Amino acid sequence: ATQFARPFNEITGVWAQIMAAASAARRIFDLMEVPPETSDEVGRILRDVRGNVEFRNVDFSYDPNRPLIQNFNLQAKAGQKIAIVGPTGAGKSTIINLLMRYYDVDAGAIYIDGVDIREVRRDALRTQFAMVLQETWSFDGTVRENIAYGKEDATEEEIRQAAKRAYADGFIRRLSHGYDTLIQESGGILSGGQRQLLTIARAMLLDPPMLILDEATSSIDTLTEQNITKAFNKLMEGRTSFIIAHRLSTIRGADTILVMDKGAVVEQGSHGELMEKQGFYYRLYMSQFEQE
Ligand code: ATP
Repeated sequence: ATQFARPFNEITGVWAQIMAAASAARRIFDLMEVPPETSDEVGRILRDVRGNVEFRNVDFSYDPNRPLIQNFNLQAKAGQKIAIVGPTGAGKSTIINLLMRYYDVDAGAIYIDGVDIREVRRDALRTQFAMVLQETWSFDGTVRENIAYGKEDATEEEIRQAAKRAYADGFIRRLSHGYDTLIQESGGILSGGQRQLLTIARAMLLDPPMLILDEATSSIDTLTEQNITKAFNKLMEGRTSFIIAHRLSTIRGADTILVMDKGAVVEQGSHGELMEKQGFYYRLYMSQFEQE
């Protein structure tokens, strides 16, 4: 497999929270001490993306001796929610790696609005996505600056609107200096849930047509959690969303659920369809349901 920069699953750790806009991606790569892509400056730029995504007969493996994704097909219409579920190592992150071209497919193709993404400059491709990952990410600066990351020219009004839509405006205004409150790289005074809301506000401000979400599983206080759920739902409205899903509520509401195991998509369909099948998903769901 051909690898470009760092794959998605390696930046989920301490790093990445969200990146979109070439400048943001570039700055994150600076932080990671990984050079941004330079080999790919020629290529198309996507404009007015609606967010129709298709994987057609995709094969991929990191190691040619260990086939992973084989003949994978997926059609996501603009605005749909695609949940990806499955045990650890199943290949969930790999699908995202391919979609964002951290790796290229070995066979088949991935299309966005009918354009093969290999024709598109990687920086231009990645500006079409915002990522909200489980690990929150912030830097030393004001709350305002943290929200405007990746869109430094945003107006005060745009920043506040984004925070409101992310259900973050309320807690921000209660901080000692409101939007001027200084936060640290570690998040410092903010709770885990509040940091999640900030990163959702960041994504709101960037306003891309497509999203990559890795749901938080960590326990957070119930009130913040309710806000997070509402904020996520609002963020997903009208955007094609790929969700590495842990919550039953998200999974149930998805247009398509990909159930992955050992690199293969073992089942694909809506919650209702998969329950009816009484297969892998059904068993996964029933075991989770019993735990809750
Ligand atoms: P998790 O829930 O733990 O994040 P996942 O479902 O996202 O897992 P992937 O990270 O996509 O799973 O991994 C699928 C398979 O590919 C695993 O066997 C993994 O070890 C392997 N793999 C993942 N990334 C790489 C890589 N960069 N190089 C080689 N093999 C990899």
